[in-house]
Amino acid sequence: MGKGHSGWTEDPRDALRARPDFSLEEFDRGATPGFRGRKSDGKALGRQRGTLLSELQERLFAEGRIGGSRSVLCVVQGLDTAGKGGVTRHVMSMVDPQGVALHSFGPPTEEELKHHFLWRIRRALPRPGLIGVFDRSHYEDVLVVRVDDLAPRDVWEQRYDEINRFEKDLVDCGTVVLKFALMVSQDEQGVRLMERLDRPDKRWKFSGNDVRTRGKWNAYQEAYQAVFERTSTDWAPWYVIPADHKWYSRAAITEILTQTMIDMDLGWPQPDWDPFDMREELAAEMSSRALKASLSDTVDNVKSAIAEDASVQREEVEVQVEDGDVDGASAKAEERAALAEVTAQKAQRFAELTRTRQQKERLVEQAEARETLAREGR
Ligand code: AMP
Ligand code: MG
Repeated sequence: MGKGHSGWTEDPRDALRARPDFSLEEFDRGATPGFRGRKSDGKALGRQRGTLLSELQERLFAEGRIGGSRSVLCVVQGLDTAGKGGVTRHVMSMVDPQGVALHSFGPPTEEELKHHFLWRIRRALPRPGLIGVFDRSHYEDVLVVRVDDLAPRDVWEQRYDEINRFEKDLVDCGTVVLKFALMVSQDEQGVRLMERLDRPDKRWKFSGNDVRTRGKWNAYQEAYQAVFERTSTDWAPWYVIPADHKWYSRAAITEILTQTMIDMDLGWPQPDWDPFDMREELAAEMSSRALKASLSDTVDNVKSAIAEDASVQREEVEVQVEDGDVDGASAKAEERAALAEVTAQKAQRFAELTRTRQQKERLVEQAEARETLAREGR
């Protein structure tokens, strides 16, 4: 999707980030900031991003497997019916299940209450290579705890700074922290709660507590405002997402996650051994028949892998250009340079493929000679 059509006209990380002057009171929960288009456009773009996101996730996973330390943590907060569950399911459906780890945080258990409030959070952090998703989080300890007086003021007051330090450590150790607050309007929440009561298939989601919590609407708005003021840091900013349109909140979170992972510059990990040497070793143990089968598969397999990789890289370039990270003539030049690099790498890989094929043809001949010798020797 190019400029002038539907899609993101602004990087949603800029459009939605909670800055020091952020005011929740003035925040329009039915708006669609940074996006031009309708629900169908948002959904179509989301599907397109899904392919890219799943590729990037696989690279992160691969990096974790070979000893990398990076991971991504998505913290999802919001009042009942804001769409936390829907968003997490949606994001998770786009990537390989083994690459994501979901944790939902409810009222602390007896054991959890014996520990520091971050204890259960630390235990749930994503391991290297994973995308962790928190459905509610340590922020409940300055939200519900503050609103419902579950701890004395001086206890929750100091938690904002503690949280900031905790997240700074996380980031310093290689975790990218993304914090999403889904903000629904009071009217829309009423409509969604009513739907849960009306539909037999949704009643399980309803709890009598939801109405009591809704009754503390203003106190929650104040508590959220304090969270944005005190914990939207340079290292772990809050993205406040208007949530009256579910398609928009999904599109926004998908886009922010994709953009973030593009910026992580995830490549395929390079092994510290030479595939040409390894191939010699492996072939010494293979029959000529197996080697021939492998040779006939080589070109097709490798060609499509190279082409897929190049198309992902091209899409990464396009996404960055679309979202207006750069503009005008310098944008065109940068785009051309980036695409030229992709093409050059592709050519290099095809050259390697040619050498691979030559090596394998030689290995087949060697195996045949070896087998002839063995037969004659018997
Ligand atoms: P739900 O997300 O609808 O399943 O509800 C989970 C409930 O757990 C919400 O009512 C939260 O307020 C509550 N909860 C989560 N974390 C805490 C916490 N640290 N202390 C007290 N209640 C919590
Ligand atoms: Mg609930």
